[in-house]
Amino acid sequence: MAALRCPGGQGRAVALTYQTSYMPQQIVKRRSRGFICVNAHPEGCRRNVERWVAGVRGEVPAGQAGPKNVLVIGASTGYGLASRIAAAWGYGAKTLGVFFERPPEGDKTATAGHYNTVAFHSLARNDGLFAAGINGDAFSDAVKRQAVEIIREQMAPVDLVIYSLASPKRTDPRTGQVYNSALKPIGQAFTNQTIELDSGKIVSVTLQPANENEIADTVAVMGGDDWRFWMNMLLEEKLLAEGARTVAYSYIGPEITWPIYRDGTIGQAKKDLERAASDLDATLAKNLGGNALVSVNKAVVTQASAAIPVVPLYLSLLPVVMRRKNLDEGPLEQMRRLFTDFLCTGSPPKLDEARRMRLDDREMRSDVQADVTALWPQVTTENLRSVTDFAGFQREFRGLFGFEVDGVDYEQPTETDLHW
Ligand code: NAD
Repeated sequence: MAALRCPGGQGRAVALTYQTSYMPQQIVKRRSRGFICVNAHPEGCRRNVERWVAGVRGEVPAGQAGPKNVLVIGASTGYGLASRIAAAWGYGAKTLGVFFERPPEGDKTATAGHYNTVAFHSLARNDGLFAAGINGDAFSDAVKRQAVEIIREQMAPVDLVIYSLASPKRTDPRTGQVYNSALKPIGQAFTNQTIELDSGKIVSVTLQPANENEIADTVAVMGGDDWRFWMNMLLEEKLLAEGARTVAYSYIGPEITWPIYRDGTIGQAKKDLERAASDLDATLAKNLGGNALVSVNKAVVTQASAAIPVVPLYLSLLPVVMRRKNLDEGPLEQMRRLFTDFLCTGSPPKLDEARRMRLDDREMRSDVQADVTALWPQVTTENLRSVTDFAGFQREFRGLFGFEVDGVDYEQPTETDLHW
């Protein structure tokens, strides 16, 4: 499945947002399977994107030079969408977004990422910003070829590639083999408390350790293999600008989550991503004077992070502590800071001892972590809503699908057959 919609204008190419002449309107109420929303509200998604755009416009240091042609892989939600908005509205960059989303069908709504993209393209067009998109499997050769064509024909060589995929599976185009990622500890079972999201109860959960195949498969999906493919292809096709940079996202997090994250299957994949960064860094430096880096981002509520066991409890406690200290950030604030304080300062970005950019510096502050660690064992089903901000977590999670968004009248019919 790969639908490409990016009609170019003359001179300055602009992807058009269009709407079909028949506009079905319907009242869209949130529908869930377990905790997950299975539909999305277009108007809520549009408001979310508008809010993020407003959070970047005029908010980057005046005169700061930024990237001009940006490819964002995983651009429709979460950190990828925030990066795309920061590049476009912060620095006027042309952006090509790659994502895997379900368009609307009949009276079935699209996924949130589809509606986010509709809103992104509509706002970009209004502001004279070039935006093109590819909806399809970023792991496939077909989507990579489409990206090559768009960059060659409608954009100048790319000076920044953001790799922000979060996917449960990958089909390797070389072999056809399908890999499924697993979120499991390694070596021994891990038991901790977590929120049972449907019931809002604190329960103990035990996760059995992964076997060798599950570890290898998770690395194949979420490690650096596909990132290498993208970058080597762009290099071979001579579509990277002199000094081009690429950034992929990682997470480290607190010790409470290490058995399931840093030391678990996903942590192995992130280590592989860091190895890829190091190799790509050498290649880009040699060929173009460019670089490849990993940015370790803060824990935020996204469709991907909410699926990791134990993490929702952490994501319900962390904002309570960070807000008290006036430190809290969402994906947009994080990505704005990535551009303003790391990528666009005019100097090489500050890196840690492992050559990573640390956007999680505030989350990982010792006083923040000490407070979270002290609160963690105190949480019970009875005090969940007073000790933690579980209500805020739920609202934010539903907000990802366009529900419970301020300013939206959910009793009003809304157009769902929207396309970008
Ligand atoms: P997300 O679920 O919000 O976004 C995932 C994106 O990937 C979407 O645009 C989706 O359409 C796209 N995608 C998924 N499979 C695809 C495929 N096969 N082809 C094309 N596009 C595909 O996820 P997120 O939380 O923003 O995660 C993005 C990256 O940031 C991941 O590497 C994640 O590990 C990292 N990260 C996340 C957090 C967090 O707390 N959410 C923290 C640090 C780092």
